[in-house]
Amino acid sequence: MKISENYSLLKHNTFGLDVKTRWFVEYENEGDLQKLLSDEYFFSLPFLHIGRGSNLLFLDDYPGIILHSLIQGIEVVKEDENSVWVESGAGVEWDSFVAHCVSKAWYGVENLSLIPGEVGASAVQNIGAYGTEVSDTITAVHAYNVETGEKETFEKEDCGFAYRHSIFKDKKYSGKYFITSVVYKLSKQPVYNLEYGNLKDILAGKDVNLGSIRNTVISIRESKLPNPKEMGNAGSFFMNPYVDIVYYKNLKKKYPDIPHYPVNEEFVKIPAAWLIDRCGLKGKKIGGATVHEKQALVIVNTGSATANDIASLASLVCDNVKEKFGIELQREVLFV
Ligand SMILES: Cc1cc2nc3c(=O)[nH]c(=O)nc-3n(C[C@H](O)[C@H](O)[C@H](O)COP(=O)(O)OP(=O)(O)OC[C@H]3O[C@@H](n4cnc5c(N)ncnc54)[C@H](O)[C@@H]3O)c2cc1C
Repeated sequence: MKISENYSLLKHNTFGLDVKTRWFVEYENEGDLQKLLSDEYFFSLPFLHIGRGSNLLFLDDYPGIILHSLIQGIEVVKEDENSVWVESGAGVEWDSFVAHCVSKAWYGVENLSLIPGEVGASAVQNIGAYGTEVSDTITAVHAYNVETGEKETFEKEDCGFAYRHSIFKDKKYSGKYFITSVVYKLSKQPVYNLEYGNLKDILAGKDVNLGSIRNTVISIRESKLPNPKEMGNAGSFFMNPYVDIVYYKNLKKKYPDIPHYPVNEEFVKIPAAWLIDRCGLKGKKIGGATVHEKQALVIVNTGSATANDIASLASLVCDNVKEKFGIELQREVLFV
């Protein structure tokens, strides 16, 4: 276990903010985590478990304990003719997990290539891209209950998965469970999901296999999204809003080209990027924070942004969208 005092989180948040935490604790195994959870000092301070900080905005120095799992290991726990159940440690980098699955010819997570972060957070966030959500493959989440110190297993049905949501983000559970591993069920038979975006067009006439899908997803993402190593960001700052169909139809009269995706009989999803772009906010700056020129959903740190610059710009975006379209954007990024 590594414990550091007054530790800079610069390398642990993709916005690249140099904030400090009073304590930073990295544990390598469940034994160390159990020791931590039985230490009274631990409960005397505020605490937060992070992954790679790719969906967080630290507004200030953190006055308590930031925890990070270094639990590694990818293991087959069950197998039949068609499927394989794979358990991965929470501290495994998400994209290394995807690369491993692709190399083993296991189908199901290839569309989620290159999403930053770790396996533990994949379940918290229900990460998604190119028509796939990670909850399509998760069968169980193993986590420690911080209050009892006991290990619990959440079956998929108990996880409350929804768009970028799980019970681990609910008020009742948030911060109360530390995830140690996640079990994914992957297919041994070829099953592809090429319906979303321009995946099918780019792959037309080419060999479609796990490797080519992964490479295509990576190259599209690299061309569209700023690399946090070059320009700090946390990916999509806002979620795509669900809008009542009647309200959407009224908006369509005023904005005939407004895009939408059907959700159910009551709601449609409208791309937040389109709404922000239509407010003319691409390139809008506050201090060192800018709405990305190519992707309106992303707020970038051009080098000197403070957390306040980023948060103020996010509020300005929300206010503009609310004023123009009457739609309230919800943040995807967690403010700490
Ligand atoms: C360039 C870029 C592109 C992105 N693209 C996408 C995308 O296409 N799709 C998408 O869904 N997301 C995307 N994201 C967002 C981000 O990658 C995901 O939200 C990711 O799952 C966050 O992982 P993390 O390990 O960095 O978690 P963090 O940001 O550190 O934490 C996220 C949440 O998980 C909790 N958490 C983390 N680990 C644990 C654990 N072991 N136990 C309990 N709680 C834990 C934290 O408390 C927090 O609530 C993108 C981000 C960036 C920077």
